[in-house]
Amino acid sequence: QAKLHTRGDVSRYTARMGDAASAELATELELRAALEDQRVQIFLQPRLDLVDGVCRGAEALMRIRRADGSLILPGDFIAVAERCGLMPRLGAVVLEQSCQALSTLRRSSLGEDFRLSVNLSPLELHDEALASRVEAALCRHGLPASALELELTETALVDDPLAAERRLSELRALGVAIALDDFGAGFSGLSHLLRFPISVLKIDRSFIERLRSDRIADALVEGLVGMAQRLGLRVVAEGIERHALITALQAMDCDEAQGYAIAKPMPLESLVGWLDSAREPQLTA
Ligand code: C2E
Ligand code: MG
Ligand code: MG
Ligand code: MG
Repeated sequence: QAKLHTRGDVSRYTARMGDAASAELATELELRAALEDQRVQIFLQPRLDLVDGVCRGAEALMRIRRADGSLILPGDFIAVAERCGLMPRLGAVVLEQSCQALSTLRRSSLGEDFRLSVNLSPLELHDEALASRVEAALCRHGLPASALELELTETALVDDPLAAERRLSELRALGVAIALDDFGAGFSGLSHLLRFPISVLKIDRSFIERLRSDRIADALVEGLVGMAQRLGLRVVAEGIERHALITALQAMDCDEAQGYAIAKPMPLESLVGWLDSAREPQLTA
């Protein structure tokens, strides 16, 4: 009966609002319904260790499953979720499912040291209870903090750097690794690396896709990998769409790679099968 009311509201509003606003409202209602009906789901995308070609971790990526089974991708709902205040609830579901998946994977014969990285929105970073929520989730699933990595973009750091610094130090004190996502895409302050306790750099896909066809991209990626090494950071290359790039990144001493050429994001059940068949090292070179 609650649903009928909502539907009535939608048609009343849509008659008076612009297309964009009604699309946003439709997305908001879809998100609320998905939270209610437990149709928020994580997909996992493998990360390959470039030293030996073994997959020891994955990134959790949020999807909304519509009632008809089709998927909504983050590009179509994250911004709306942030504006209508639903991001913290969605993020909490992602964190819980990620810890659940981690405990399943770590109990299987495949991945005793398996790690997952989880994306955090700027809003979540500014939640004062973040570290204690993360600690509680790890504890509920009997996981060490080293099983989890949290990914942030630079935008999360710039609007309130003092608060960000505090939250990140709390997370580091717990033992959770912090990754700087989409590195190089925004207003990259290299100073972020000085100020915040970051341990992983994820080089943005826009650099990776130009590798081997653009000498500037080659030089930039090689330089970033070298710099990260000097700083003691792990480097992950995101958005590997061509297999040849894996060899190129190995030659540059990049630590890990992630992208469609290795595997697309998939549900946990599929990842277990994928890991099983990928037990043999992936690298042919
Ligand atoms: P991201 O964290 O940089 O995640 C990588 C995105 O690139 C994912 O898109 C992934 O599916 C896509 N990708 C991976 N390999 C390739 C490739 O080889 N080629 C191309 N073209 N794309 C590739 P997705 O899943 O649509 O997520 C988009 C963004 O939405 C993420 O970018 C992240 O910023 C955000 N996001 C996803 N899940 C969550 C979440 O649980 N919480 C928060 N706060 N943000 C999330
Ligand atoms: Mg990410
Ligand atoms: Mg990224
Ligand atoms: Mg991105």
